[in-house]
Amino acid sequence: MIYTVDMLIRRIKSGEKQYDLNKIEAAYEFAEKAHRGQVRTSGEPYISHPVAVAYILLEMCMDTDTLCAALLHDVVEDTGVELDAIRKKFGEDVALMVDGVTKIGKVPLNTKEEQQAENIRKILMAMSKDIRVIIIKLADRLHNMRTLACRPPEKQRKTSLETMSFYAPIAHRLGMYDIKEEMEDMALYYLDPYGYKEVQNALNARKDKGESFIDTIKRRIAERITDIQPPPVIEGRVKSIYSIYKKVYVKGKNFDEIYDIYAVRVIVHTIVECYNVLGIVHDMFRPIPYRFKDYIATPKPNRYQSLHTTVIGREGVPFEVQIRTVEMHNTAQYGVAAHWKYKVGLNGKVAGEKRFDWIRQILDQQQEADDVEQIAEAVKVDLAPDDVYVFTPKGDVITLPVGSTVIDFAYSIHTQVGNRMTGAKVGGRMATFDYQLKTGDIVEIMTTNSPNYGPNRHWLDIAKTNEAKAKIRAWFKRECRGENIVRGKAAFAAEMKRCGIPLDEEFIKQIAKRQHFDNADDFYAAIGYGGVMLSKIMQKTKEDYLKLQKPAETPPTETGIAEAISSTIAKKQSSGVIVDGIDSCEVRFAKCCNPLPGDDIVGFVTRGFGVSVHKADCKNVEEQKKNPANAGRWINVKWASGQRVNYQATLDIVAQDRTALAADITLAIAASRIPIHELNAHNLKNGNANISLTVEISGVEQLKNIILKLKKIDGVVSVERTGK
Ligand code: MN
Repeated sequence: MIYTVDMLIRRIKSGEKQYDLNKIEAAYEFAEKAHRGQVRTSGEPYISHPVAVAYILLEMCMDTDTLCAALLHDVVEDTGVELDAIRKKFGEDVALMVDGVTKIGKVPLNTKEEQQAENIRKILMAMSKDIRVIIIKLADRLHNMRTLACRPPEKQRKTSLETMSFYAPIAHRLGMYDIKEEMEDMALYYLDPYGYKEVQNALNARKDKGESFIDTIKRRIAERITDIQPPPVIEGRVKSIYSIYKKVYVKGKNFDEIYDIYAVRVIVHTIVECYNVLGIVHDMFRPIPYRFKDYIATPKPNRYQSLHTTVIGREGVPFEVQIRTVEMHNTAQYGVAAHWKYKVGLNGKVAGEKRFDWIRQILDQQQEADDVEQIAEAVKVDLAPDDVYVFTPKGDVITLPVGSTVIDFAYSIHTQVGNRMTGAKVGGRMATFDYQLKTGDIVEIMTTNSPNYGPNRHWLDIAKTNEAKAKIRAWFKRECRGENIVRGKAAFAAEMKRCGIPLDEEFIKQIAKRQHFDNADDFYAAIGYGGVMLSKIMQKTKEDYLKLQKPAETPPTETGIAEAISSTIAKKQSSGVIVDGIDSCEVRFAKCCNPLPGDDIVGFVTRGFGVSVHKADCKNVEEQKKNPANAGRWINVKWASGQRVNYQATLDIVAQDRTALAADITLAIAASRIPIHELNAHNLKNGNANISLTVEISGVEQLKNIILKLKKIDGVVSVERTGK
C-alpha cells in the first residue's frame, strides 16, 4: 500500500484531534522537494516512505510536530539539507526530533550478545531526550519492515535481526504492544521462514474451526453480560505467530498444548465491571489454576493494566480472556504514545505541555501526578544514569562510570591496549586523553608496538576508574622500579626539605614502616609510581618530626613557617611596584605581556581599575601610545626593591612525548623550590606534547634559570615564556 499526502490530509480532517494543517503541508512540501528524484528499492518515489511513517504516527494520535518530524526524518541524512534550515522553518522541537532520529540511525547495532542488546536498548532510549524521537524511530522501522520484501536477502536478515533484538523490545518496554507484535511477526518471517510457515500452516489448518470457536465464545459471553450498558466490546483473536512460535520452538511445546492460541478480549467502562465480568467468565468456564493475573491491582511497569485468565470451554479447548476498560485498552495499544491521545481536551485542543522531555524530567526527579511519568520512571530503573555507554568501532558496548575518559576506555578493553595507547579518536576525530566520554560515542584507541612505550604518569590524574588507575600504577611498579626509586627519593627529599625536616635514615625507615614497607627503597619506589601520595603523608610526617624535636628549644621549622606566612602577607600587601606620584593605588599586571621584576615596565591609568603595568616593549603599549586619546594616561612605574613578592609566569613547553615527561618537569621545578601553580599537558598531532606550566617566581632572573633547567630535560624541544 502506497500512502499519499492526500490520504494523510483526509485522515487528519476526518479525525477529532486538531492539527496545524499548514505546518504539516509545509513539512510535506519541504521533504518532497528534498527527496525529489530519489526512489526506494521498490521503485516508488522516496517521499512515500516518510509519508507512510507520518501516517502510522497519525493513527497513534501523535501531535503536529511529531508528524512534521516524521515527514522530515530522512531529509538531513539522505539529502543535502542542513538541520538549521529545518530549525528556522519548523522550530526547535521538530529540528531536535529530526536530529535525534538521524543520530539513532547511526548507532552501530551489534546483535551478538544478549547483554549487548540490552545495553543498546538503554543507549537508544538515553540518546533520545525527547521520547517522541523513539516513537518516530519505531514507526520508521515498522514501515521499513512492512516494505522489506523488495530489499536484498542480506539486508532483510540484518534489518530483521535488529528489529527483533532492539526495536521490538523497546516497543514492548514502552507498552506499544501492537507495534511490537507486528514487528516480531515480520522479523520472524525473514529470520526463520520455515518456522514461520509451519506455525502459519498449523493455524490455517485450524482456521475455520478456530474462527467458529471464537465466535461461539464471544456470543455466549455477550449473552451473559447484557445488563452492562452501554454494551461492552468483545473482540476475539488468534495470538501472534511469533508468540506461538516461541512456545513451540523455544519452550518445546506441542501445538495442542498451547493454552492461549485463542484469546477473547472484553472491553468495559469501569474497573468494577472488569471484576464483574471476570466472575461471570469463571462461572461459565472452568479456570485453569495459576493462570489468573490481576494487572489492574498490580500494573506492569509500563503501565499495562488488564485482568488475564485462561479457561477451558465445553469443547475442552483452552483460551485466554482479557478484561479491561477502554482507557486501559488504549494504553495497551499505544503504550507511551497514549499520552498524546489523552492530551486532547474536550474542545479538541491539546492540553498541557507541548513537549514531553521525559529524560530531563526523570533526572529532575520531579514527582508529577501524570501517570506517563510512571512509565518513564519504570524505564529509568534500569537506565542507570550513573553510567555512560560507549561503543568500540565494531559495535561492542563498553559501560563506564560517568566522567570516564578515553584512558578508562582503553584499560577496560585490555591492559595492553591501555599501556600501549598513543591516542584516541571519538566519532572519527582525534580526542584529548582527558576527553570525557558521552553515551553513544564511538571510540577508537590507537596503539603502538614500540617496546619502550608505556603509560604517562599524569594519566593517573585523568583516569576516573580505579581499574585504570590500578593498571597504570602496576605498570610503573613493574616496568621501572629503578627509575621509581630514584624519582621517589628525589621527590621525597624535595618535600622534606620544603618542610624543613632533615633527611635522617632512621626517621625515614620509621615513616616507611608506618606505610607498611620493609625498607626505604620499596617506600621510594611506591612514591615513584604513585602508590604513596606525598601530599597525604607529609602532614603526619611533619607532626611526627615535631614530636621527636620537642625537647629542643627552638624547632628549626618555625622560621620556615614564619617565612611562609610573611610571604603570603607581602603578596597581599603589595604588588611590588611603585607607582610614580601615587601612594597607594591598585596595580594589576597586564595579561598580554605579564611583566616580571627585572623587566622594564610602564604604567597605564585605566578607567576605574587602577594602574595596569605592561612591559615597556609590549606590543599593545606601542599600539596604544599611537592613540592620542590615551595621552596623559601613561605613568612611570618601577619595581620596589627588597620586597618578597611572588609573581605568576606561564611557560609553554614543547617536548617529544614520552613516559614520565611531565614528572621530570615537575621534579626539575620542585628541586628549585618553586611552587607550581598549574600544569596542563596535551599531545600534539606530530607526536610532541605541549605542556603549559604556571609557576610562582620572584623575578626574571629566577625564570631564566628555570628555563635553562627545563631545556636540559630529555626530549624538551623548546621553552617559551608566554605573554610576550
Ligand atoms: Mn526512514
